Amino acid sequence: LLKAVGVRKSYGHTEVLSGIDLEVRKGQVVCLLGPSGAGKSTFLRCINHLETIDAGQVWVDGEPIGFRLRGGKLYELKEREVARQRRDIGMVFQRFNLFGHRTALQNVVEGPVRVLGVPPEEARVQALDLLDRVGLAHRADAYPAQLSGGQQQRVAIARSLAMKPKLMLFDEPTSALDPELVGEVLAVMGTLAAEGMTMVVVTHETGFAAEAADEVVFMADGAVVETGPPGEILSAPKHERTKQFLARVL
Ligand code: ATP
Ligand code: MG
Repeated sequence: LLKAVGVRKSYGHTEVLSGIDLEVRKGQVVCLLGPSGAGKSTFLRCINHLETIDAGQVWVDGEPIGFRLRGGKLYELKEREVARQRRDIGMVFQRFNLFGHRTALQNVVEGPVRVLGVPPEEARVQALDLLDRVGLAHRADAYPAQLSGGQQQRVAIARSLAMKPKLMLFDEPTSALDPELVGEVLAVMGTLAAEGMTMVVVTHETGFAAEAADEVVFMADGAVVETGPPGEILSAPKHERTKQFLARVL
């Protein structure tokens, strides 16, 4: 479903991604691990074309992101068309950027109504169902400021899911949370994974990776150091760099 080939990205003279390859099949969960500055967030932003890439290509469900394939050639898409591609790719950030002046329910309803043209009443029913799935049906009318960080992050997940994405990207979704709130967010993500959502998750939560990931990718200095099933990478890493990193986070 997702295929990244040779993705390179530099800021000025600094190469941040030096050729990343990644393949994620439908329904798979891949966890991306790596030290600060490894390029994990940059890579996620390249997947949904929030960053342009210098070389390489990202494909989602057979479509080249940021481009249209015609007659064997790639033509750059206009921003409006990229936005359409991006709809298929949900993204949840470290900071849950909900609309502060809207309730949880309104936050979830907004996208489907405004972007997808879903009739408001139908969107409301779907949104309530999604809030129920993340365990927040009873808080539908609360404003973000009235919710805990973990609850806000679960609303953010529901809001992403409301757009019916093919792929979900998570960038350290629990690292801004108080420790006691981490579990409830990981539980929602675990359920989502078990239901067959295709996910790429940047996280330091090795417990989550061990349970939910089909594959773990360890990145450092803009490159993939090693890749494998969680049992292998987390308990028997081959590379020194991975061993050092895991010794610090575990
Ligand atoms: P962290 O674990 O701290 O979130 P990360 O693996 O997500 O780290 P990135 O945020 O992708 O790392 O950053 C990779 C490198 O790119 C860093 O050295 C960072 O300083 C640099 N970088 C990121 N965004 C920009 C930007 N907009 N302009 C210049 N440099 C940037
Ligand atoms: Mg990051």
